[in-house]
Amino acid sequence: MAEVSLKDLVKIYPASGKTPPVGAVKRINLDIKDREFMVLVGPSGCGKSTTLRMIAGLEEITEGEISIGKRVVNDIQPKNRDIAMVFQNYALYPHMTVFENMAFGLKLQKKPKEEINKRVMAAAEILGIESLLERKPKAMSGGQRQRVAVGRAIVRNPKVFLFDEPLSNLDAKMRVSMRTEISKLHARLGATMIYVTHDQVEAMTMGDRICVMKDGDIMQVAEPLQLYNSPENMFVAGFIGSPPMNFLHGTLTKEDGSVWFTEENPGSAPIKIKLSDNLAAKGITHVGNKVVFGIRPEDIADANTVTDIDPTVRSKAKVEVSEPMGAETFLYLDSGAHSFIAKVHSGDKYEITQNVELYFNMEKVHLFDPE
Ligand code: ADP
Repeated sequence: MAEVSLKDLVKIYPASGKTPPVGAVKRINLDIKDREFMVLVGPSGCGKSTTLRMIAGLEEITEGEISIGKRVVNDIQPKNRDIAMVFQNYALYPHMTVFENMAFGLKLQKKPKEEINKRVMAAAEILGIESLLERKPKAMSGGQRQRVAVGRAIVRNPKVFLFDEPLSNLDAKMRVSMRTEISKLHARLGATMIYVTHDQVEAMTMGDRICVMKDGDIMQVAEPLQLYNSPENMFVAGFIGSPPMNFLHGTLTKEDGSVWFTEENPGSAPIKIKLSDNLAAKGITHVGNKVVFGIRPEDIADANTVTDIDPTVRSKAKVEVSEPMGAETFLYLDSGAHSFIAKVHSGDKYEITQNVELYFNMEKVHLFDPE
């Protein structure tokens, strides 16, 4: 069993020269279950790598406690933590063959030759790199090198795998194929895996759960679809999903027993929308306050294509850009004070500068506090 638990974990990089101290991780708490695939995601500099490196023991902890498999590891050497880490730059030894690279850790542990052979061959088979064992890293593609780096982690048979942006240096196609390979590997090995990425697509497709970070803090921890459907704040809502969620800033008012959202728009006529009962119930505490109204591109439709629509949830807009993606088309729209992105069916054709009337699916609208 290897659950990983972070308790009140803090990392402050001390000042050096003229550089002030950096609060890279600000007292986070996170429980990763045994055999879970946990993704740490967030923009560059939000503290993902620092967190992972503290778990690995490569970075000193400023405050707090890390346990792996119920054992507090704060004072335990990296090599004795029962973890293996895969780095973005692969970190292979250039003068060694693939076999030697994979065998290196086991040799240090003074394992018998036969066992080393067996374990390297088994890992090579899992990754389909048996034919590369005599090659040196420079004679291989990025994808092959990354497989070797993963193989080197597998041979150690760790309880926890740590991945630090392992696919960043690969081309787009190879990234997608390695992504599914790592997911399969997780299913096959049944180990706990903690995976750092800045790529929300990787996070959504690979994670059992996703931990979204910003500025050294955790913003939300949830399963992918829960994160997508019920983001707890504007940051998570804007970070997860592509194209991103549309946001409108405005205020809520109560009129004739209903709650209305009115866009903040000093220029042209503001968008004014009646909230559905569900949302109104949530928004009631915000009446009179500033709020952010969020709607995903797929929940905005061309009013012409929707029958039975509520006349209170329309807004006029002009098409600025139309991007046919194959299965769907992304429309970039201008509604006077705001831009919107809508995902529409690919069969619908739109001209640039064409006027459309937008329809918001009010069941899918989110309300947030402004950031
Ligand atoms: P991420 O992995 O999310 O990109 P990092 O954990 O690498 O973020 O960095 C978090 C913050 O800590 C950033 O502001 C970064 O500049 C800073 N940082 C990272 N490593 C060091 C270091 N060795 N010394 C000082 N500051 C650092």
